[in-house]
Amino acid sequence: MPDTLYRGRFAPSPNGPLHFGSLLTAVGSYLDARSHQGEWLVRIENLDPPREVPGSSQDILQTLESFGLYWDGPIVYQGQRHDAYAEALDQLGKLQLLYPCACSRRDLQAHVLGTTIGRIYPGTCRAGIPKGRSRCSTRVRVGNASVQFVDRSLGLIEEDLAAEVGDFVLQRADGLFAYQLAVVIDDADQKITDVVRGMDLLASTGRQIYLQQVLNLPTPRYLHLPIVVNQAGEKLSKQTHAPAIDPADPVPPLIAALRCLGQTVPHEVENARLREFWEWAVTAWKPAQIPCTGDVMVQN
Ligand code: GLU
Repeated sequence: MPDTLYRGRFAPSPNGPLHFGSLLTAVGSYLDARSHQGEWLVRIENLDPPREVPGSSQDILQTLESFGLYWDGPIVYQGQRHDAYAEALDQLGKLQLLYPCACSRRDLQAHVLGTTIGRIYPGTCRAGIPKGRSRCSTRVRVGNASVQFVDRSLGLIEEDLAAEVGDFVLQRADGLFAYQLAVVIDDADQKITDVVRGMDLLASTGRQIYLQQVLNLPTPRYLHLPIVVNQAGEKLSKQTHAPAIDPADPVPPLIAALRCLGQTVPHEVENARLREFWEWAVTAWKPAQIPCTGDVMVQN
């Protein structure tokens, strides 16, 4: 594929300000796109209004700009794309791949406790929902699908969807569309060629490729980046009280992010201005050096 056809994206959920872990993902996807002379798009994944923090989308976009992470084209908001997701569900319905499911999270937990299997849907409603139950989610059948893909950092990954995931939810009982569906439709509509994101989403990639295959959509290349953890080994997130990154002095956290991504940063870059930093970083980016260990510790 010629480099000019590279199109990457950063897809934050507006559940709070950017922290160092999200900065690392933004930096990795941005540098990979720019070093391929590609485009870098931003998509705000506001699929779940109850979890959205008011003002957070604007705050994330301003923070990206203060770090010199300028995107191409208009921002896409998932909250405005319900028609596209509904259309995809319709298409899957016509392929006889969907069924209503009345299992609540609690029903499934009870099942898991009884059997010690992980979070694999046991297929309870596959042949019909129990009488008298009405609030339903919609699941997609995975049949005996097994998915293979080559992650640019981790190599060949194989996932047996039936054994490892089971039929999965595409629309929740409250009507909200699932991330797995929305991300596939948006990546395809935005003609994304390269998905560069955190390794916490590696376990979702098989489901996404399965949906691409049944919907006849192209599969982008994938590169999963290490997850930043704090001193206690917890993933940086709102739940673990990760501090917001401070845009007042952007170069030091950018350098820290690059070092977590295995890049060699010469000491003179520490004195660079933001623009010089990016000019250097785009030419110096070496994805082959990204650690494939899963976690990297936050460096202060
Ligand atoms: N919205 C997701 C997140 O913030 C990222 C989704 C993706 O990159 O596919 O974790």
